Amino acid sequence: MNADAPGVLVVEDEAAQLEVLTYNLEAEGFRVEKAENGDEALLLVAETAPDIILLDWMLPGVSGIEICRRLKSNPSTRDVPIIMLSARSEEVDKVRGLETGADDYMVKPYSIAELMARVRTQLRRTRPSSVGELLRYEDIVLNAETHRVMRDSGEIKLGPTEFRLLSTFMEKPGRVWSREQLLDRVWGRDIYVDTRTVDVHIGRLRKALCQYGGTDPIRTVRGAGYALG
Ligand code: CA
Repeated sequence: MNADAPGVLVVEDEAAQLEVLTYNLEAEGFRVEKAENGDEALLLVAETAPDIILLDWMLPGVSGIEICRRLKSNPSTRDVPIIMLSARSEEVDKVRGLETGADDYMVKPYSIAELMARVRTQLRRTRPSSVGELLRYEDIVLNAETHRVMRDSGEIKLGPTEFRLLSTFMEKPGRVWSREQLLDRVWGRDIYVDTRTVDVHIGRLRKALCQYGGTDPIRTVRGAGYALG
């Protein structure tokens, strides 16, 4: 599985539902993490920084609504889209679901195809390159489908690791990424790579981006990591 495939956290206590969702999400190319209760979900959010969360309403222990409220009131997680899944269908519940900050809401039984479409809609906003959109930052244009990168000065040829680093940066200009976060996103969580490897590839990326001159868009943030702009 591609390490920079978008990560989905599925929080669902019904085994059959969890299995169906996981199967379909993996078939669509997503990385899937699973939690069967609220505590596990909160732990996995902190640990894996998912790109989107599918959150069942009725869970043992901490409820889906409470998880949603906590994640949406925390600055480090509030931008992660949450789609609430619920067996309840009353309009009042729908309103309550959205009031807690959920980005979307689906009532069970839902159509898997529609759920997948809504997942993509959310990701188009937060991780555009993962759904094939062009990313732009100043004079840099990155096409995730063709894997081509252009600057005003010409085409920038990048190795696969440098390409993934750049697309990670371009999805969130200004965001500071720690070396560990870049390792998780670009190399994958299951592979052991020394954090100094990140510095080596950042060096290569900078060199490639500036090969025809132009400014170095990557900023080293002392003690924290790297950011674009
Ligand atoms: Ca449930």
